[in-house]
Amino acid sequence: MSQNSIHWFRKGLRLHDNPALIAALKDCRHIYPLFLLDPWYSTNTHIGINQWRFLMETLKDLDSNLKKLNSRLFVVSGPPTEVLPKLFEKWKITRLTFEVDTEPYSQSRDKEVMKLAKEYGVEAIPKISHTLHNIDRIIDENNGKTPLTYVRFQSVLKAIGPPKKPVPAPTKEDMKGVSTPFSEDHEEKFGIPTLEDLGLDTSSLGPDLFPGGEQEALRRLDEHMQRPGWVCKFEKPQTSPNALIPSTTVLSPYVRFGCLSARTFWWRLTDVYRGNKHSEPPVSLHGQLLWREFFYTTGVGIPNFNRMEGNPHCVQVDWDNNPEHLAAWREARTGFPFIDAIMTQLRQEGWIHHLARHAVACFLTRGDLWISWEEGQKVFEELLLDADWSLNAGNWQWLSASAFFHQYFRVYSPIAFGKKTDKNGDYIKKYLPLLKKFPAEYIYEPWKAPRSIQERAGCIVGKDYPRPIVEHEVVHKKNIQRMKAAYAKRSPEDKPITKGVKRKAAPIKLVLEKKAKR
Ligand code: FAD
Repeated sequence: MSQNSIHWFRKGLRLHDNPALIAALKDCRHIYPLFLLDPWYSTNTHIGINQWRFLMETLKDLDSNLKKLNSRLFVVSGPPTEVLPKLFEKWKITRLTFEVDTEPYSQSRDKEVMKLAKEYGVEAIPKISHTLHNIDRIIDENNGKTPLTYVRFQSVLKAIGPPKKPVPAPTKEDMKGVSTPFSEDHEEKFGIPTLEDLGLDTSSLGPDLFPGGEQEALRRLDEHMQRPGWVCKFEKPQTSPNALIPSTTVLSPYVRFGCLSARTFWWRLTDVYRGNKHSEPPVSLHGQLLWREFFYTTGVGIPNFNRMEGNPHCVQVDWDNNPEHLAAWREARTGFPFIDAIMTQLRQEGWIHHLARHAVACFLTRGDLWISWEEGQKVFEELLLDADWSLNAGNWQWLSASAFFHQYFRVYSPIAFGKKTDKNGDYIKKYLPLLKKFPAEYIYEPWKAPRSIQERAGCIVGKDYPRPIVEHEVVHKKNIQRMKAAYAKRSPEDKPITKGVKRKAAPIKLVLEKKAKR
């Protein structure tokens, strides 16, 4: 039977490794590639202007890739449960395909949409391609329990095997007999809006260092894969938080929006590794993709994952409510140049290195300001191009020693940490040009510079640049005690699990085979 299909793009904003799109094209007469501007996101999340630009660039790129297949992207505004039924009728739709999304809102939205599709006689086909594996299968394989450590997670994945190979992008051949009924006024009716059309204030847009889209994602991936030595030697802790040229891939915004498939990334790395000595998880690039998968799994398995309250694996901490300190951190006014430089890079460019995220997250929470990780999560959600529900929540819990990581007594110094990889403070000088004339000796602690040096540098601390808002040496010690008290209040069953949950016994056949081999 000839089908009229909608392929609904949400994440997965690409043609390569898009099994749901391929399913839409099977026995298809008319295909409608659709993107919905869902008002839920504007009212319930804090997406910032740089991220909006990234999304619009990505949609433009998607449309231009679809044009090469004689198709077009249809952009429609409105809640999915209102828009989709209208389109089912208008376009006489028989099939709806989309990529599985594990975030809580997406799950409830998709449940409603599947119900509606059934009512309208539309076959709904969800396919998994945002993660390396089926997340439910990972939890099932662990006896229905969420693996809570990376080691445990790795052993579960060993039993599952490598991720599926990515599926190729549709070709003109695949599109034979399939058409997209778009009209001359398509641009007017279904075109991609500008940021101004969306009513967004573009005055704070930063430089467009990481333009959105599948083509840019694949170009960047190719560029990295052409450096096999770098890929094979990659060890995350050896990369630098304050390098002026990013010391990691910056593929995260592309993976987040699905301009790049995680499975494509994984298998390209496998190709580079083949026959070569290479680093291993958790520090290798494969290891980074496994961190992503780990936090997607915990995001599905742990209730209220993006909150402290009601989250059974999160230490309950009496965080302070201090709007002035929170604003100073958010607006790069803490008086600690390393922290303020990172927060400036984040606001302007939308991406900061993983260890830079460590530094500012520790500073906001258990290190210095004693402000809830949920507040930091909101700021990152707004400012990061790669802001991702599961990864943001998981990593904030880690850094605040609320879950997964429990060595709360190991605190990053806002002064010494940055010096390890940038003695001269070139990174600080780039993002805080106000301080660029300070000698290296004082660049991390300008308040210690004698008045004459401050005058020569043209920057008086307390007037042109703030004094430190806290005394790190004092507060971090006090905070360690507060954290100790929070940990002590945990009941025995809440105590951190470090060994993972007991596994299912291996099938007897396997045990016997192993014995025979020995
Ligand atoms: P690479 O080192 O090149 O890694 C390759 C890919 O692996 C990344 O693109 C990303 O998809 C994945 N990855 C790498 N590190 C991690 C990690 N620690 N956890 C999960 N996945 C990882 N990452 C996000 O993508 N979105 C977020 O919202 C986010 N919030 C964070 C919040 C905090 C407080 C911290 C400490 C980290 C957060 N991270 C987040 C994780 C990590 O910092 C970024 O994924 C990484 O820095 C992106 O840069 P890259 O692409 O160059 O990474």
